[in-house]
Parts: sequence; structure tokens; C-alpha cells
Amino acid sequence: MNKISIELADRVKNLPPYLFATIDKMKQNALSKGVDLIDLSIGDPDIPTPRHIVNRMKKAVENPGHHRYPSYEGMLSFREAVANWYKRRFKVSLNPKTEVLSLIGSKEGIGHIPLAFINPGDVVLVPSPGYPVYPVATLFAGGESHIMPLVKQNKFLPDLKAIPKSILKKARLMFINYPNNPTSAVAGKDFYKEVIDFALRHSIIICHDAAYSEVYYDNKKPLSFLQTPGAKEVGIEFHSLSKTYNMTGWRVGFAVGNEKVIHGLGKIKTNLDSGIFQAVQEAGIEALNTSDDILRKIRGIYQERRDALYNGLKSIGLEAEKPKATFYLWAEVPKGFNSSSFVSHLLDKAGVLGTPGNGFGAPGDGYIRFALTANVKRIKEAVERIKKVV
Ligand SMILES: *Cc1c(COP(=O)(O)O)cnc(C)c1O
Repeated sequence: MNKISIELADRVKNLPPYLFATIDKMKQNALSKGVDLIDLSIGDPDIPTPRHIVNRMKKAVENPGHHRYPSYEGMLSFREAVANWYKRRFKVSLNPKTEVLSLIGSKEGIGHIPLAFINPGDVVLVPSPGYPVYPVATLFAGGESHIMPLVKQNKFLPDLKAIPKSILKKARLMFINYPNNPTSAVAGKDFYKEVIDFALRHSIIICHDAAYSEVYYDNKKPLSFLQTPGAKEVGIEFHSLSKTYNMTGWRVGFAVGNEKVIHGLGKIKTNLDSGIFQAVQEAGIEALNTSDDILRKIRGIYQERRDALYNGLKSIGLEAEKPKATFYLWAEVPKGFNSSSFVSHLLDKAGVLGTPGNGFGAPGDGYIRFALTANVKRIKEAVERIKKVV
């Protein structure tokens, strides 16, 4: 019998290896050898979803009204809860009907937005090191990524003045992400103002990824992009319940901001998916109304871990940025190593797994990202083990 030839499409052939798949292989290999692995490689909270959210879900699941197709743009009550949360947290007003769109996790929205606004040959400005979905989503839409390097000398903010004129002519969309994964940098009002002026001057849609706005330290709350005047004229902000409420498995997030941009993304979604299970949206409403006591406790846990890892690494002579937000620590690899060789060295000699900085893009070489997703005892042990091999 003849077999058909099954060929991947070019867009799939052209994909870079998925970062975490490579790391997972290294991890499985170490585990199969019986290594007592301290895994600080993946940004997935180890703390469970708060009880009240789980309980609301249990009740919501029993409601037959939720067993049917949800509405495409999300339940109005969920979008209202989002608008109320923005008002409380950022003093930003949003029309829940036109300026809020629910997402099956923010990754879904980030992955789909270039399909709404990018034609083949258009350029998307992409920060690097950065979340791998930005360039991949661009590739899937037939666009071209122009890399904006995030370097220490510029506080891990993109240098907008360094973008060539020829690129600006073709650029239609820009991704930014603060608090930043992987560098843990935060952005201030001045940067957002510069971004808005830039967007207006060159007619570029801004997509700000704010997945980590609620994972912050020392009571210093990060800003929303939308708090800067003019932001809503030029773009949207992606948000997620994943990191804030330890809900990565639930798949619920949202986009807010410019009506036309929200509408464009919504158009793609109506043609691809059928929304979020309404019981999850109900649980999402519960999450958005979580009391600050609970969130303060979660932030306290991360802060203790951050201090243990930051102070520990410093005491053994490793240079790192002290995170003001996110649950990542961006550390420089010691002399004589690059990102990949240092990650392999720590795994082989210390049983500690981090993520190589260059996996987030070439400008991340020379760094390793540690995720604060293990308890303080394990983090202290990781430092002790690293101490013996650097
Ligand atoms: C985790 C993460 C997301 C996506 O989270 P979802 O679970 O899809 O909502 C988006 N951006 C960054 C930078 C992240 O680290």
C-alpha cells in the first residue's frame, strides 16, 4: 500500500526547538540516574490555588447552565470583575463590554494577536531575552521579528532609539513585558511614556504582557501600562490569573485596553475557539476578588525565597539582579562558562537545574534564570551545592 508523504509546513519546520522541551529531556535524564534534583527551571508555581477559588469551582461545576458553549468574548460578569479589579488595583477605567476580552490563558491571546494585525512581511518588535511565544506567534502570522535586546546597561529595557528607520517603516506591533520574564526587571512611568510617544509617532500597536504585575516584593506595586495617559490609544495589556493566584492549570486570562485591538483579537478567537468553560470564569471572578491578606501571604513566601537565593548567590560570589518583581532571578554565569555550559555544569555536579539565558534569545547568553518555585529549605540547599562547584 502506498503511504502518503507527511511533511510539516515550513512554519513548523522553521520553529526553534521549544526551550522547555530540551530542558525536560535533561531533567528526565538526571532523574533516571537517581539524582536528587532541585528544579529551579520552570516558572510554574508550586503553591496550590487558594481554597476559596477551588470551592467556588466545585459549586460552579454543578450548574448545568455552565455545561453548554460559553459566550465568545467571555461572560459579562467575568469581564465586569476584570474591570472592577483594574479600577481597584490601578485606578484605570475600562468598559467591560468593549475593552475587556477573556482569554484561555494569556499565552493564547499573545499567540493569536499577530494573526489579527500582521500581514506577511510586516515587522513585529520583540524583546530578547523574552517569552518565546512573541517571535513564534509572529512567525505563524507570516511576520518578521525584529529583536530588541534587553541588556543590563539599559536596565533591561529596550532601546527604542536604536531601532533602524527601515524597520520602523514596516513595524506594526511591539511586545513588551514588565515585570519582565526572564530578567525580573520592572518598568517605570517614564519608559511607558516613551513607548506611547514612540507608538504614536510610528503607528505601532503596543502589546504589554503584565503576567507578573502581582508578584512583587517590598510592597512596591508594579504599574500597569494603562496607567500612563495615552496608553489606551495605542495598545492593550495582557493579564493572567495564572501567576497571581497560582492557577496555571486553569487556563484563564484576559486582555484589556484599546477597543479596536481588543475587537481584532476577538475576531480571531471567534473563528478558532469557543471561549472558557464558564465554571472556570466563575472561579476567575472569585479569584479577582481575593482578599489582600491571602495575596500578601503568597508574596511573603516568594519574598523569603528571593532573599534566600539572592543573598545566597551573592555570598558565593555570583552576580545577580535583585528581583523587584516576578518569581525569577536572573544571574550572571561565572567566568569561563556560557549559559548552556553553566546549566549543564550545575545539573551534572550539583543536581540543580536552572534555565540557560540564551534559551530566551541570544542577548540572554551569559545568564542563567532561576525560578523561585521550590521552598526555602531546598533553595538554601541549592546554594550550598552550587557553592561547592563554582
Ligand atoms: C506565564 C507567562 C504567560 C502566560 O501565562 P498564561 O498561563 O498563559 O496566562 C505570559 N507571559 C509571560 C511572560 C509568562 O511568563
